[in-house]
Amino acid sequence: MRAVVKTAPAAGFDYVTDHPELPVGPGQVRIEVAAASPCGTDRELVGYTPAAVAFGLKFPVVLGHEVAGTVVETGPGVETLRKGDRVALESHIACRTCYHCRVGQGHNCLNMALLGVHVDGGFAERLVVPAHACFVLPADVSTETGALFESAGVAVHATLRSETNLAGRSVVIGGAGPIGLALVQIALASGARRVAVIEPNPFRRKFAESFGAVGLDADDDAVDWCLVDAADRKGFDAGFDCSGAPGALDLVLRTLRREASALCVGVQNQPFSLDVTRFVIKYGITVKGSFGRSLWQTWDVLAALVSSGRLDLDALVTHRMGLADFQEAVDLQGGEAGKVLLLPDRR
Ligand code: ZN
Ligand code: ZN
Repeated sequence: MRAVVKTAPAAGFDYVTDHPELPVGPGQVRIEVAAASPCGTDRELVGYTPAAVAFGLKFPVVLGHEVAGTVVETGPGVETLRKGDRVALESHIACRTCYHCRVGQGHNCLNMALLGVHVDGGFAERLVVPAHACFVLPADVSTETGALFESAGVAVHATLRSETNLAGRSVVIGGAGPIGLALVQIALASGARRVAVIEPNPFRRKFAESFGAVGLDADDDAVDWCLVDAADRKGFDAGFDCSGAPGALDLVLRTLRREASALCVGVQNQPFSLDVTRFVIKYGITVKGSFGRSLWQTWDVLAALVSSGRLDLDALVTHRMGLADFQEAVDLQGGEAGKVLLLPDRR
């Protein structure tokens, strides 16, 4: 079958037409891929950057962790899925036996396997995954849209972890990539009084504004604007850094009021210094991280938001292309694009 394969610990990838199909073992299902979406992580994996090395790629591996499709074969012992079921995939495959899995924190599993990193992913015509990594899509959500659940789930998980009721709150978001854009919609759907997005790229800033956010450039003026907009309390109530860009978390923290909450969502490429005395000790800001999606609370909330039309994931899609166009899809990451869908059916 056709697949995008990473074969060696170096920059690049191979697009092949003869990738062997894996057998379907006990507890596993074979999925016919309807759509898969590359993200910034895939760009790192293709470039084999330090961030990619840190993931501990297994070679060879089919890339692609944002995937949805239809079950075409079930292995022995699979009782939760049937042929024809349409599913989105949880890319963080939990072991279900370690300490964290047993206490309901499978999103931080000690033996986590990442789809498209450690096991063959979805930039292919088909893939084999454990049935327990599949989320059955609501009847009114298209399979193509399901490929956007994994990344949008990161935004939902971040709001759940912030433990802040966003109704009536002022929310600042660092970065208007797909996760930041999903967060804009979720915060506004939750009744936020104001959502401001700090984003240096004008295309992405406009994209955020199209969903109702106030777009701000990534400089000190963004901080000043937020402090004036929420002058009664001298800062915003909740912040999310979805960019992971150098200095972005600091910028977000400077827009926040005392006792606010700040979520780190975008992966930082290297350690950096932070004014803990000011932000954490004196201001009492809660700084937390968010990785992946909770199983399955995040998916449950996400499916309801998409089903009810409060979160329009299709509006994030700017490009659709075939598997053979993978390089172009990777080049679009971080540039003038929203989500790119790779459709194996499209030649
Ligand atoms: Zn991703
Ligand atoms: Zn585990």
